[in-house]
Amino acid sequence: MARNAGFCFGVRRAVETAEKSAPAVTLGPIIHNPQVVESLEAIGVTSMNSPMQVPAGARVVIRSHGIGRAEQEALEAKGCEIIDATCPFVNRIHEMARRASEDGVPLIVIGEAEHPEVQGILGWTEGPAWAVMCEADIDALPPMERARVVAQTTMVEGRFRELCARLAERIGQLEVSATICTATRDRQQEVVDIAAKADVMLIIGGRQSSNSRKLYRLASDICRRTYFIETAAELDGIPIAPSDTIGITAGASTPDCIIKEVVARMNDIEKKVTPEENQELEVMSEEAIDKTIVQIRPGQIITGKVEMITDDEVCVNIGYKSDGIVKKSELSSTDVKEGDEIEVEVVKVNDGEGNVLLSQKNIINRKAWEEICAKEEAGEFVEGVGKEAVKGGLLADVEGIRTFIPASQLSLRYVEKIDEFVGQPMTLKIIEIDKAKKRIVSASSPPARPS
Ligand code: SF4
Repeated sequence: MARNAGFCFGVRRAVETAEKSAPAVTLGPIIHNPQVVESLEAIGVTSMNSPMQVPAGARVVIRSHGIGRAEQEALEAKGCEIIDATCPFVNRIHEMARRASEDGVPLIVIGEAEHPEVQGILGWTEGPAWAVMCEADIDALPPMERARVVAQTTMVEGRFRELCARLAERIGQLEVSATICTATRDRQQEVVDIAAKADVMLIIGGRQSSNSRKLYRLASDICRRTYFIETAAELDGIPIAPSDTIGITAGASTPDCIIKEVVARMNDIEKKVTPEENQELEVMSEEAIDKTIVQIRPGQIITGKVEMITDDEVCVNIGYKSDGIVKKSELSSTDVKEGDEIEVEVVKVNDGEGNVLLSQKNIINRKAWEEICAKEEAGEFVEGVGKEAVKGGLLADVEGIRTFIPASQLSLRYVEKIDEFVGQPMTLKIIEIDKAKKRIVSASSPPARPS
């Protein structure tokens, strides 16, 4: 069972946004999965093909693929309420497309020209722009000296590199941004690894789902018995022997319930069980799936991989069913890039929007607190810096932890202006520590002199 199977960060966010926004309209189905689209229709979220069909003043949820400038302006002109669930990965490419126009540089998108994501990207350029998907498309491009290249987020990385190499043969100055989403990259790498071990590969996904189709192509190159299924019902026609090793993955738009159903139906087929026994197996299958999902709790320290960086947060894959979010203010260093492995602490398993809230600063604070406690027990001094004059004393910072220094413990002389100690480094002796309330009272040692 692939670790990265089912909804990705962008799709989960779009589906949840649509659910919360009902009744609403989406431009095109919110994801390429007919079952999810049907369940959204049942709560009043309907899909329309173009802004022309959208009633004036309607609430419109933009799916993770995003839309072009012309569609956005058409909706605004109709007075629609636009709820933007464009995946931040895709938004970043829109920004690159806009900048290419501003800089007067032609844009080339490596991806499927008809795919809504590619259409949306092209829709943010005003200058020359093309979508290419194969060598023949590249050979048909007009001559140009310079171009910027981006990728549809679900491109297979190896193919993207091949096409970039072909472009480089024709265009002297090529600026390439490999905008393949890391969630896609990890999923594609995993399907290759699993297909190499499996006798039968099952790829679960909507037939219209581009990323699921690519998973199918990657797996079928390695495992001859690879099947692309949309629902568990399609398993009936697939020959599976009890001794077969079965690999399973699912596209980014496949809901968990369909994945669970597939695992349960396979048990049913293999073991030819009665409906009662099947029910029991279904529960077991759910447990098997749940076991593949990392369990987490608040306070736990885990290592995750940075998937995406936006203006205010960093999205981290922690191997859990939902992605983790670290607010930029909670990073110990802003020197972090996509693909980095970072240590984070779980603050909340669900932040109210289905994401896991993480912090790096908590880990640093905790380590600093443990060191301060150890020094206090050993009777050692700590080093701090005066931060803020407050009533009755000074607040100082010791390795990111605040400590209060009463005015009487600050200097041997009467201190008239406590704020003269702000910014001054000082050696401190901890005189009181409340571990439960995390409060520290210290004395300057030797008594400090105001700067
Ligand atoms: S596959 Fe990547 S780019 Fe596409 S919606 Fe999911 S997270 Fe966003």
